[in-house]
Amino acid sequence: MKPYDLPDARGHFGPYGGIFVAETLVHALEELRLAYERYRNDADFVAEFRYELEHFVGRPSPVYHAKRWSERLGGAQIWFKREDLNHTGAHKINNTIGPALLAKRMGKPRVIAETGAGQHGVATATVAARYGMKCVVYMGSEDVARQAQNVYRMKLLGAEVVPVDSGSRTLKDALNEAMRDWVTNVEDTFYIIGTVAGPHPYPMMVRDFQSVIGEECKRQMPQMTGRQPDYVVACVGGGSNAIGIFHPYIDVPGVQLIGVEAGGEGLASGRHAASLTAGTPGVLHGNRTYLLQDENGQVIDTHSVSAGLDYPGVGPEHAWLKDSGRARYEVVDDEQTLKAFHDCCRIEGIIPALESSHALAYAARLAPTLPRDRIILVNLSGRGDKDMHTVAQRAGMRF
Ligand SMILES: *Cc1c(COP(=O)(O)O)cnc(C)c1O
Repeated sequence: MKPYDLPDARGHFGPYGGIFVAETLVHALEELRLAYERYRNDADFVAEFRYELEHFVGRPSPVYHAKRWSERLGGAQIWFKREDLNHTGAHKINNTIGPALLAKRMGKPRVIAETGAGQHGVATATVAARYGMKCVVYMGSEDVARQAQNVYRMKLLGAEVVPVDSGSRTLKDALNEAMRDWVTNVEDTFYIIGTVAGPHPYPMMVRDFQSVIGEECKRQMPQMTGRQPDYVVACVGGGSNAIGIFHPYIDVPGVQLIGVEAGGEGLASGRHAASLTAGTPGVLHGNRTYLLQDENGQVIDTHSVSAGLDYPGVGPEHAWLKDSGRARYEVVDDEQTLKAFHDCCRIEGIIPALESSHALAYAARLAPTLPRDRIILVNLSGRGDKDMHTVAQRAGMRF
């Protein structure tokens, strides 16, 4: 297999990615690109990033054999990569540490972020506190109401949460507001994007920071099982936890990469967030990628039981991996997700995030079709503490 060297200098993954932004942002992106270029291989920067991952986040996260569940399913062996054990409960912290360290070196004492469910906002507020930076998080006012606990968390950590009242008052409106802030305050402000989307160099930079997940697996799986897995499975919202575990495996032959999108109430219902499976190429949030749009190019409202997968686009590298055939993308609906969530709780003693439960559901579908000596590695991207309310409500319980 050819060594994998994408994106190109202008941020293209084949026909995807690139930079589609207003003139006012071009300079800020160029400044970021140059800073990242300078520090990505800088020994001090890399050493500090590694140190923080070990001592603040708690890495490496273990790989874990879900033995009882595998036995019950009666086929392949399922292993989890335990990103749920990270500080703040998910993979997102990997990517807020890198940009915060970069911001410090660029002399920018203020970080901003946008957040939907609040997970990226919490991860950003966490590193801002850790490094003594000012932090502003934009959040649709609808989401502020729905995610009160994460809003309070961000405030405890010292962040200012700005509710956004325009449009549908959700993630995409918060994103526009964060962009506006960045243009106005670029002198002292670093914009931390929470997934592998946005204009170049964000998809590449976030991928690089998240690739620690797959790099660890590549060392851990041979230690634990004597070889690399046959399948690597991860849920896909914007695509950062999936790229993080996929990327180091891209040029390893024989490892099948499977991304799992949110099927919501089913593809036929139109209420889902399966951009790669049911979308078409177009431009969204500064890059060209697959997205859910109508025939006039209007972005369609998405739905998923897990707020973290509820995004109408997807990182451009996944678009390229899909078209090139190196990865394939499957869909799991809300019902199947909830079943996997409950099975994982009862059988393995682990309460997974609803996002991650999509990947678990697909693994549980795949495992019985395979011989017992096959290995499926699932990225357990986060823990489910944040989802208690949603799950209890679904079960008709008050919480
Ligand atoms: C945010 C989130 C996701 C989805 O984001 P990606 O960029 O697709 O990884 C998945 N799992 C968890 C636990 C999350 O918090």
